[in-house]
Amino acid sequence: MKITMIGAGYVGLVSGVCFADFGHDVVCVDKDEGKISALKKGQIPIFEPGLDHLVASNVASGRLNFTDDLKTAVAASDVVFIAVGTPSRRGDGHADLSYVYAAAREIASNLQGFTVVVTKSTVPVGTGDEVERIIRETNPAADVTVVSNPEFLREGAAIEDFKRPDRIVIGVDGSDGRAREVMTEVYRPLYLNQSPLVFTTRRTSELIKYAGNAFLAMKITFINEIADLCEKVGANVQDVARGIGLDGRIGSKFLHAGPGYGGSCFPKDTLALVKTAQDHDTPVRLVETTVAVNDNRKRAMGRKVIAAAGGDIRGSKIAVLGLTFKPNTDDMRDSPAIAVVQALQDAGARVTGYDPEGMENARKLIEGLDCARDPYEAAAEADALVIITEWNEFRALDFDRLKSTMKTPLLVDLRNIYRKDEVAKHGFRYASIGRPD
Ligand code: NAD
Repeated sequence: MKITMIGAGYVGLVSGVCFADFGHDVVCVDKDEGKISALKKGQIPIFEPGLDHLVASNVASGRLNFTDDLKTAVAASDVVFIAVGTPSRRGDGHADLSYVYAAAREIASNLQGFTVVVTKSTVPVGTGDEVERIIRETNPAADVTVVSNPEFLREGAAIEDFKRPDRIVIGVDGSDGRAREVMTEVYRPLYLNQSPLVFTTRRTSELIKYAGNAFLAMKITFINEIADLCEKVGANVQDVARGIGLDGRIGSKFLHAGPGYGGSCFPKDTLALVKTAQDHDTPVRLVETTVAVNDNRKRAMGRKVIAAAGGDIRGSKIAVLGLTFKPNTDDMRDSPAIAVVQALQDAGARVTGYDPEGMENARKLIEGLDCARDPYEAAAEADALVIITEWNEFRALDFDRLKSTMKTPLLVDLRNIYRKDEVAKHGFRYASIGRPD
């Protein structure tokens, strides 16, 4: 299959390179010329484990190319994926579809022969109808079917997720079987690996993505609230999570209490679902509450640090480890660290941060953040050390070294990666989430 991927970001680049690895001919198009010229030179604009090698081998095989020439790429393609961003629209929280619609317009005027246009971006229910309308209005002669195929990969494990998905969801309307055949061919290697292909209607497919993300966000928020209760009643949230997670109907994943969900998907997608539901007079109140509880939690984590440090941090130095919204990515979008650091700065502290891959993006998003080159430099003269993101390199910190450099040996572990006894034996005071002190 000849495939064009519009948008070479986290999803477009990973999907594009994986499709090339399956044996398809793939061209990734991005309107960010800097990104395309970097990719052409073999530089990967994002941090994602394994991506550099996979890109290099597929470029070498000739199956993966990068261009800013959308016209030529689209004209030669059997399938065109739209994988551009759909951020929250400023002001009202609806998904901003301007990039999707702009891509649809550009694609429309360059289509040649039968082409399947696939929305891979996360888009509100009904967006496929509008994409189709735009294409037909722009190019009435186009022989095209518009399909929905939402992406479920997780940053940090994106290649593995793409190559071994729990399922592939494909939404196709109408009785024309050609699009279904093309999509089956695109995903044939995964189908042969027994990944289930779930065919449904376009609108259902679009909603599956939001319902899935909202459910996961709710699950995280649920255990976070149980963690708060654990702190009040002297129970242990990790044991509660294990105790309920072993129930097959509940499952153990997404039951790790922490500083609240963040990232480039859950915050914007839960909000967009809330807005869509309100527009249809069927409010999704559980999701509305999830959004509100999670928003409040991030700053509450700042207050937790302040309380652990004695209630007044004006003039103190606080060190924070882990700034990205989760480990193994450089993505800082809507990371809980932003609100936590802000709350500490608002209370008068100077904050020094360290993150293995996120420093460059963090600098752009967190004003006034001092940056360190490693955890020990961050901790020098600090009155508290806060773990916000559970990168592996923070799992075996040298506490004696930390104690010798910190002003006050206090660890606030917002990811519960340590136990109190192992930290306390090095002379540290320790606070964590939902576990008895
Ligand atoms: P991103 O911001 O990393 O990448 C989007 C890219 O699209 C950018 O490089 C941008 O320059 C490019 N672009 C925008 N308009 C364009 C146009 N008209 N022509 C060519 N290129 C264009 O975004 P992302 O994180 O890859 O997310 C893309 C979509 O996938 C979103 O809808 C997101 O919700 C969804 N999604 C993301 C993830 C994730 O983990 N990041 C997972 C599943 C789904």
